[in-house]
Amino acid sequence: MAVKPKVTNGSTTLGPAANEKDAEKLRFIEDMTMNTDAVQERVLAEILSRNAETEYLKRYKLDGATDRETFKAKLPVVTYEDLQPDIQRIANGDRSPILSSHPISEFLTSSGTSAGERKLMPTIREELDRRQLLYSLLTPVMNLYVPGLDKGKGLYFLFIKSESKTPSGLPARPVLTSYYKSEHFKSRPYDPFNVYTSPNEAILCTDSFQSMYAQMLCGLLQRLDVLRVGAVFASGLLRAIRFLQLNWEQLAADISSGTLTKQITDPAIREAVTQQLRPDPELARFITKECSKGDWACIITRIWPNTKYLDVIVTGAMAQYIPTLEYYSGGLPMACTMYASSECYFGLNLRPMCSPSEVSYTIMPMMGYFEFIPLDADGTMCNGAQTQLVDLAHVEVGKEYELVITTYSGLNRYRVGDILRVTGFHNCAPQFQFIRRKNVLLSIESDKTDEAELQKAVTNASELIKSYNATVVEYTSHASTKSIPGHYVIYWELLIKKDKTKNGKSGTIPTELLDECCLEMEESLNTVYRQSRVADCSIGPLEIRVVRPGTFEELMDYAISRGASINQYKVPRCVNFPPILELLDSRVVSTHFSPGLPKWTPTRSN
Ligand code: AMP
Repeated sequence: MAVKPKVTNGSTTLGPAANEKDAEKLRFIEDMTMNTDAVQERVLAEILSRNAETEYLKRYKLDGATDRETFKAKLPVVTYEDLQPDIQRIANGDRSPILSSHPISEFLTSSGTSAGERKLMPTIREELDRRQLLYSLLTPVMNLYVPGLDKGKGLYFLFIKSESKTPSGLPARPVLTSYYKSEHFKSRPYDPFNVYTSPNEAILCTDSFQSMYAQMLCGLLQRLDVLRVGAVFASGLLRAIRFLQLNWEQLAADISSGTLTKQITDPAIREAVTQQLRPDPELARFITKECSKGDWACIITRIWPNTKYLDVIVTGAMAQYIPTLEYYSGGLPMACTMYASSECYFGLNLRPMCSPSEVSYTIMPMMGYFEFIPLDADGTMCNGAQTQLVDLAHVEVGKEYELVITTYSGLNRYRVGDILRVTGFHNCAPQFQFIRRKNVLLSIESDKTDEAELQKAVTNASELIKSYNATVVEYTSHASTKSIPGHYVIYWELLIKKDKTKNGKSGTIPTELLDECCLEMEESLNTVYRQSRVADCSIGPLEIRVVRPGTFEELMDYAISRGASINQYKVPRCVNFPPILELLDSRVVSTHFSPGLPKWTPTRSN
């Protein structure tokens, strides 16, 4: 079936491989991308034949068919909410083959939420191998562009999160927590191109302070070996820089004395770090000199001068962090290497050193079966689009699509919620620019708050000011990333009726009550938001900025002056356009911050 790519001496259309091991991986990429459609047909047939006896495929009377036509004719395109009853049964312990014929090994908790809780994605053991396969392609591609990565190390800030168990006892945890805790990661064979400064023990600690402290300390100790600095998402790397700003004195003190601070109590971390730590007053003086200036421009290249690039995702919601990262790194290239989700790992960037605005991901056809809902130029679904999904090999350059996946773990025609635009092809495999996530209004890191969630939060908080005869007449929001961690800013325009309420209150609302409204809003937001606030400290306290009466009318006037139709004008529930933000900020009469942390526990409420 496979057309053999033309390869001579380890050279492919991607470029000459750095070594024979890389050549094999690059040939694999070539093979997959030259035979996209055939691989997709095989993947679908494999998934459908192995799952033929599952309740789900039987429910839709697939009758053992494994061809695309029958599959498309009989199976509906679904969302998480459609599958939730089946997923809940699995979580409650039903071991019968509901979605997958293979046993469900664990649940991956997506950062996408449903009814305020992380979505639970059932997965099977062999998916780890598939994810590992995609990871194994990243370095051979990077080696095409950046030589000499085997001469040093990567300073990667990697973290796990706490996990819970479903009623049936299966672990429920984020996909990266599952991966870092797996033998694939923990017992990975030595690869000179992939040596990390962070000990596994530091990565595998759920206490985010101790984990970060140890990873930063080891990065500082090995600073001259570091050739690349990274985290999964841009927000994670900025958190690390913020951590350095707050903790450099203690870090320098530890390095100077060669002893680890008592704040690190995890015995495994203590042992791993102590092995590296020797008194090094010269390094401590250097860190003190660089960090005490109060000037953080180019801090990455000042501390880690051999860094060739940053390895972080800055596409999608992370694009907002590009200017800050440029400031801290003095404009180092930012490599976005991979596009993946809890449901399925999708693909990789075959030109990882390109500028962030040009990043396109090549979906690898062996990872799952991929279909695409065509969207109109205004981002809405084309007429009849739900019934006319396009196959991976047949998408068209320049068009936008919503991604629909069928996975080995048992998702069939599942809408991920990502909107992608086709930018070109590598061989026969399309390359996609990540455009946006559907229905996401606010995002600081992995949190995704949609319009309905924001509305609910505003409604709940405005209950608190009711007794002052006050209502929120209009609101909008902005994810502020000016300072790290970023935080949500909600602009409120209030209407306070003059007549006294039953309990005699009227006039001004006490400041503390508006502060409380911030916390009430946070309590109403989804679990990923609250976890980021409480456990990860990666989102700062929510802020309400009260604007003076009439501000939202001015906003409308402004929009109309720029061509909006009066009839169709709707208040934008999130604003990013600088002139509008300036207008809002110039009308602020008071600002309020959440005085505490919202409630969050690792256990799910459903
Ligand atoms: P999760 O299910 O929590 O793992 O989140 C997966 C989602 O993160 C994807 O569906 C995308 O919306 C987003 N995502 C993952 N990788 C990228 C990327 N490289 N660029 C932009 N967004 C991404």
